[in-house]
Amino acid sequence: MSDFWQRAFVFPLFLLVLSLLVWPIAGAFPAALVFGLGMSLRLLSHLRNLAAFERWLSNPDTQQVPDGSGLWEDAFSQLNKLTQQRRKDREQHAAALHQMEQATSALPEGVVILDEADRIEWCNPLAEHHFGLDSTRDIGQQITYLTRQPEFVQYLVKKNFSEPLVLRGTRHGDLVLSIKLIAYGGSKHLLISRDITLLERIETMRRDFVANVSHELRTPLTVVNGFVETMQDMPMLENDMARRALHLMGDQTRRMESLVNDLLTLSRLENEQNVLHEERVDVPALMRTLYEEGRSLSNGQHRLKLELNCETRLSGNTGELHSAFGNLVTNAIRYTPPGGEVVLRWHEHSDGHTVFSVKDSGIGIAPQHISRLTERFYRVDRSRSRETGGTGLGLAIVKHIAIRHQAQLEIASEEGKGSTFSIVFPAKRRLQEADASSWS
Ligand code: ADP
Repeated sequence: MSDFWQRAFVFPLFLLVLSLLVWPIAGAFPAALVFGLGMSLRLLSHLRNLAAFERWLSNPDTQQVPDGSGLWEDAFSQLNKLTQQRRKDREQHAAALHQMEQATSALPEGVVILDEADRIEWCNPLAEHHFGLDSTRDIGQQITYLTRQPEFVQYLVKKNFSEPLVLRGTRHGDLVLSIKLIAYGGSKHLLISRDITLLERIETMRRDFVANVSHELRTPLTVVNGFVETMQDMPMLENDMARRALHLMGDQTRRMESLVNDLLTLSRLENEQNVLHEERVDVPALMRTLYEEGRSLSNGQHRLKLELNCETRLSGNTGELHSAFGNLVTNAIRYTPPGGEVVLRWHEHSDGHTVFSVKDSGIGIAPQHISRLTERFYRVDRSRSRETGGTGLGLAIVKHIAIRHQAQLEIASEEGKGSTFSIVFPAKRRLQEADASSWS
């Protein structure tokens, strides 16, 4: 028998023995009275403990567990231990939470926890500042009620969070934010915001500086080039060295001119105020022009092919697309040794995407270079690029033009075998016949 039951039965047994002793001496009634009185006292003690327990239960967080008496003493002591342990755990959790809150408050980024329905569960002070939130008032509110910019709402709806979103014109006027959503815990999201106002300002300054310098260089270069050309044509120029020097000067000024022109083109394309002037682009006709230009550049040294697999016209800018496609054709010819093949192709995917591609059987590109090719001045082989008149800006220009048309530049290449550069246009750029006639 356990200790509890032993202790529970000691007192009734004692009473029973006492009553049995009283019985022969005083009779049955006094014996029953002793037993009944004793048991009533016991019951009263239980009721008193129960009442104390009930009182404690009504407010367990602020009151001490009662001491209790008799059988209750042990139970209350156990309960006291448990509640103290629980209080200690709670304090530890609160301290950890406080520490986490302090750490996230010190983060240089805004953090908002969103539930499965994009309602705010928690945010740090920086996020309050970025989105104009109030962590006491706005908890439980849908974030799109408070930040209503269409691009932000779109970003949340699309749920394609691979790329951050740049958000301008927030509640704080000129604040520029970079927003990133991270999915966690099933369907919840962590919204991270970073203030990139200063970075944007520096980027604008850099862009303006390059554009201004390029612009300022243009006139003196034209003048120098003009004089060099005039002097080269002078009949009295007999000195071989002077002729060679003038020839070199001519080459270098032309190179600088094309560099300056490419830099100006890039600045223009990067300028967000310079919106795309959309028109009907007759791609098949443009491809025929490019084919002829390619033939003249190759000068019979390559086999050039033109594959027009569809007659699709696009909504876009003819000048910009001519420049992008032309850059790819020129590169294919420049980086393909004589005797090689260059194929220009225009075709449509079953999903509605239209693709311009240039495939060459040239020198190809090693895989580690491919992701960096569209960076300004990135060249795999600097001397080859220079020899063939490259500026190192061609693919950067192509990429920007593609972005302006919501298209994607794709590069597939194998060193020593050749490359395929493709520009993939989204289905929405395709002009239906009815649309096409409305442009003409
Ligand atoms: P560049 O004026 O140097 O050609 P681009 O921006 O047009 O500058 O190209 C960047 C680099 O990409 C080139 O220097 C070259 O190394 C590589 N490249 C571009 N097109 C091809 C191609 N068709 N085949 C092989 N390499 C290429």
